[in-house]
Amino acid sequence: MSIDMLTIPAQCVTESRIQELDYNNIEFGKIFSDHMFVVDYKDGAWQNPQIMPYGPMSLNPATSALHYGQAIFEGMKAYRDANGDILMFRPVDNLNRLNISAERMCMPALPEDLFMQGLEQLLRLDAAWVPPTSGCALYLRPFMFATDDFIGVRPSATYRFIIFSCPVGAYYGQALKVAIEPQFVRSAEGGAGYAKAAGNYGAALLPARKMQDKGYHQLIWTDAKEHKYIEESGTMNVMFVIDGKLITPPVSTTILKGITRDSVLTLARELGYTVEERKVAITELVEAHKAGKLQEAFGTGTAATIAQIATIHYDGTDMDLPAVEGREISNRLATELDKIKTGQAPDPLNWVQRINL
Ligand SMILES: *Cc1c(COP(=O)(O)O)cnc(C)c1O
Repeated sequence: MSIDMLTIPAQCVTESRIQELDYNNIEFGKIFSDHMFVVDYKDGAWQNPQIMPYGPMSLNPATSALHYGQAIFEGMKAYRDANGDILMFRPVDNLNRLNISAERMCMPALPEDLFMQGLEQLLRLDAAWVPPTSGCALYLRPFMFATDDFIGVRPSATYRFIIFSCPVGAYYGQALKVAIEPQFVRSAEGGAGYAKAAGNYGAALLPARKMQDKGYHQLIWTDAKEHKYIEESGTMNVMFVIDGKLITPPVSTTILKGITRDSVLTLARELGYTVEERKVAITELVEAHKAGKLQEAFGTGTAATIAQIATIHYDGTDMDLPAVEGREISNRLATELDKIKTGQAPDPLNWVQRINL
């Protein structure tokens, strides 16, 4: 099916809820736009795509996703440019990753034309929900879950895929205090850490809560075998600047392949910085910090783009990093990337897709 052959039937709201939205004070993840895109999988095929008002759905208590966790998700953003057009950032990369997660969780792949058509039609319908304010965006949440009404443990034969959205404000987060996790594990080799599978996040809540109780915003995961190497920071990839070089752990089966991570590394290389994707030992960070060479540390992810790290705790010691304002590499990358996403800078790699309203 080609894209123009597909027009997804839409049942529209009679009255938009957009007046409920205060663009100057958007609370993350609480107000949802008017519509959602829904498509069901059964008899071996995706069927009956539709756009309908955002709202509750009824599910049977035996819905298998609720028991055995066949549930995956994505997170992406749409921005408004100076002309009022809507720009999506690398949406096909999100779809490709969704399908990698789907394969790992024994779920069906979603075809690109169906995903893009649903996404574009939804964005056109809910265009007013993409905030015009600089720094704000419409966060999109594509996700898929198993819908078989059956409590045997086996892959479901039916699934539902949905995209809904919520406006999000500028990320004015303070620089994070993080602590290196010495005991709990997010992901082990051979596991599903590279998938955005719901259970990975459920299992991370307790370790994160324990670190928060000790006064840290977030934890840094280490490898499952030895707890010697850095993996990720919470639900972000993590990067360091040591002695002028941008260094990050390589993607593997235990590390999620962030689209922000890839964008940041690509831009950094283009801007002429030295980039190393390799294992980062905790001892390397400790020694670099002692020698005054640990210049920058930050997480990367769709929500924050770049979340600066102020302090890294390890084994009883807080390592304080240089002030955020002076961090040349991460600040430059954050600015350049935001310019590309909002159409204010050239986009030689075609990361941005414009929606014709
Ligand atoms: C989503 C996610 C990221 C960041 O991915 P982006 O594509 O950059 O948003 C990193 N790590 C984990 C564990 C994630 O779930």
